[in-house]
Amino acid sequence: MNQHYKDEKINLLSLVVPVYFEQECIEEFISQVVSHLDHYKQNFEIVFIDDGSTDSTVKLIKAKAQMDLRIKLLEFSYNHGKELAVTAGISHARGDAIIYMDPDLQDPPEKIIDFVNELNKGYDLVFGIREERFGNPIDKLLSETFWFIIRRLSGEKIPKGIAVMRIFNRKFADQFLKYGEVNRFIEGIFMDISYNWTTIVIPHRPRFAGVSKFNFTKKIGLAMRAVLDYSDKPLETVSLFGFFIFAVGLIAAFVVLTLVLLGVDFKLGWPSMFTILVMGFGIQLFLIGVVAKYIGNIYKEVKRRPLFSIKETTNIDV
Ligand code: UDP
Ligand code: MG
Repeated sequence: MNQHYKDEKINLLSLVVPVYFEQECIEEFISQVVSHLDHYKQNFEIVFIDDGSTDSTVKLIKAKAQMDLRIKLLEFSYNHGKELAVTAGISHARGDAIIYMDPDLQDPPEKIIDFVNELNKGYDLVFGIREERFGNPIDKLLSETFWFIIRRLSGEKIPKGIAVMRIFNRKFADQFLKYGEVNRFIEGIFMDISYNWTTIVIPHRPRFAGVSKFNFTKKIGLAMRAVLDYSDKPLETVSLFGFFIFAVGLIAAFVVLTLVLLGVDFKLGWPSMFTILVMGFGIQLFLIGVVAKYIGNIYKEVKRRPLFSIKETTNIDV
């Protein structure tokens, strides 16, 4: 028996892996995971969730699933986004511990057993922390800014450099599944559950193949959603900002009045009026937009639609 494998507490380990146009990565990912876990004699299942890919991703997974019943697949009928894909995966995972990771090999499959061992020390959740981030400097800056804001909103609770790869136990998964919101920011929910967690450091590599599915606009969208779903602080900021503008207006009025009373020949021309009006109008629209986003989210939540629509499953009984 290998020295890394401490005990047999985990009878079945589930891997939850969202896939969206990942045809270049799938086979390599499966082969690395299977050889690693077979080597450590860890019983496992891989639950893939196809988030509406139209390339060969599904075909490749199905071919593997035919030969290996431990490989399972849920197919969404259209693209729901990664958060819901992960949620669907967790709700269909049968393991007493669940690892969530991406298939692009940015997070290392050869570290899975380290995660298992760390969880076995008695934690409910173990986050992977990235040693360093690959990618272009703009991506890095965006990602750092995003996490800076999220960490501030969360009161610095979310660990720095958090990776996708993480493991949690059944108790944690069951609690996670009680969260019913459609608009979801996974890390926000994870921190909200607030069970006993720790972190381990893992290397971070560039994508094995293919391109990131999160382009600039998708990233901004994701960041917006994360902030809005995670916190109502922007609403407070809106009122604070409104108050600030009001105060500036008051001071301006006072200054103008004083100048007039002092007999200063003080005339505001139409260009300055025009500028102030347009700016004020813009700020109002922007702030109404922020509030409207929350209303839009409430609208989506109150409809209470099913979280996802699964069109087909392979090796899974539903
Ligand atoms: N993904 C998904 N649905 C989407 C976009 C992405 O399920 O709408 C998956 C994708 O297949 C990958 C993971 O989410 O497994 C992370 O995406 P990616 O690696 O492209 O993002 P990055 O690592 O660059 O942030
Ligand atoms: Mg990736």
